[in-house]
Amino acid sequence: MGRVLIIGAGGVGTVVAHKVAQNSDIFTDIMIASRTRSKCDAIVEAIGNPAIQTAQVDADHVEELVALFNNFKPELVINVALPYQDLTIMEACLQAGVNYLDTANYEPLDEAHFEYSWQWAYHERFQEAGLTAILGCGFDPGVSGIFTAYAAKHYFDEIHYLDIVDCNAGDHHKAFATNFNPEINIREITQKGRYYENGKWVETGSLEIHQPVTYPHIGPKESYLLYHEELESLVKNYPTIKRARFWMTFGQEYLTHLRVIQNIGMARIDEIDYNGQKIVPIQFLKAVLPNPQDLGENYTGETSIGCRIRGIKDGKEHTYYVYNNCSHEAAYKETGMQGVSYTTGVPAMIGAMMYFKGLWKRPGVNNVEEFDPDPFMEQLNKQGLPWHEEFDKDLEL
Ligand code: NDP
Repeated sequence: MGRVLIIGAGGVGTVVAHKVAQNSDIFTDIMIASRTRSKCDAIVEAIGNPAIQTAQVDADHVEELVALFNNFKPELVINVALPYQDLTIMEACLQAGVNYLDTANYEPLDEAHFEYSWQWAYHERFQEAGLTAILGCGFDPGVSGIFTAYAAKHYFDEIHYLDIVDCNAGDHHKAFATNFNPEINIREITQKGRYYENGKWVETGSLEIHQPVTYPHIGPKESYLLYHEELESLVKNYPTIKRARFWMTFGQEYLTHLRVIQNIGMARIDEIDYNGQKIVPIQFLKAVLPNPQDLGENYTGETSIGCRIRGIKDGKEHTYYVYNNCSHEAAYKETGMQGVSYTTGVPAMIGAMMYFKGLWKRPGVNNVEEFDPDPFMEQLNKQGLPWHEEFDKDLEL
C-alpha cells in the first residue's frame, strides 16, 4: 500500500525506520537514504529486516534526489535530514511527483534564522501538482500543534492563551551533550527569545525570561521562554489566540556550558581560517561533542511535553492541559535511541501513516494543525506516546 523513502539516518531517522517497519500493513516498501550509506545499513541491520533498501544521497543536490526518487518511486518522502535540506527535498518532490513530510522548518546554513515563509511559498506549486506536503510533524513542532487542534476541536470555542511546555528531566550522565543535532540545537537556543502577544511578536534576550513550571511525575523545573517555529503557524491558524509562548527546561550545568561555548566563539556559524583551512566553529564543535544517537544507553528519566491552554467554551473560561511523558529507557529498549529522538520519530511515522490511510491528504503545503487531529491522537496512544488530559486546573503560566 505505501512506498516510503526516509531521508536522514540520525537519531530521528533511526526511530522513524523502526516505527515504519513495525507498521508493515501500511508501509509495504521502505528505503532509507542518507549522506552516509553505512549508517542506513546499520539501521536495517538493527531492525533485522533485509527487505528495507538503502541508498546514498546528498540531499543538498536536487538532481541527485530526483534521480533517487525516479529510481525508487516513493509515494511519500519523510525528511529527517537537517533543516538545511528542506527546500532541495521539496523541490525534488515537485520535479518527481512525490509527497513530502518533515519535522523542522527550513533554515539557511549561513543564517541562524528559521521561519515558515520559505516553505509556505511552495504552497501553490504543491497544490497545482496535486501533492501533499506536511510540515513540522515531530513532537514540537508536530504533536504540539495536534494537541492544540484537538483542544480547539473538542474543548474550546476560542483559544486565548497557549503555552507549550517542553521538559527533559532525563540524565545522560555526560557533562554536556545535546539531544538532537548539536548544530541545530545550539543555533536554536542561542537565538533571541520571542513570543506572540495581542497581534505582535515581542522579542526578549536569549533565555532572559524564565520561571519554575511543575511537570507531571517530575516536579518543578526552571523553564525558559524561547522562540519555537510552531508559534508562527498556530497564531495564524488560530487567530483568537491573544498570547502564545514556548517554554523549555534547561539544567544549570547545560546553561553554563552553553554560555562558555558562546563566549569563546565556538557557537559561531561563519567560516574562520584555521591553519590555512576554512572551518565553521559550530561544525567543528559538533564533531567533538557526543553524538545524540549514542546517548540512549545510560539515559534515565523522562521527557514531558504538552500544551497548557486557556480559552472559552459556551461563554465560560476553561483551562486544559494535554501532555505526554516519555521514558528514555523505554525508548532505548524499543529503538536503541533516547527519548528526544523517539518523541520526534514516532509522530513523523504517524503523519506518514495518516497520509497513506488517506486521512491527511490535501494538495498544498500544510502545517499539522490544519488536518483532523483525532485519528492522529488515537495512534499516539497505540504507537508509544500515550497522552493525558487535565481540565480546569491552575496552569501556572
Ligand atoms: P542527526 O544529526 O542525528 O541526523 C541527521 C541525518 O541527516 C544524518 O544521518 C546526516 O548524515 C543526514 N544528513 C545531513 N545532511 C545531509 C545531506 N546533505 N544529505 C543527506 N543526508 C544528510 O539529527 P537528528 O536525527 O537529531 O535530527 C533530524 C531532524 O529532526 C533535524 O531536522 C531536527 O531539527 C529535527 N528534530 C525535530 C524535532 C521536533 O520535535 N520537531 C526534535 C528533534 C529533532 P550524516 O550521518 O552523514 O551526517
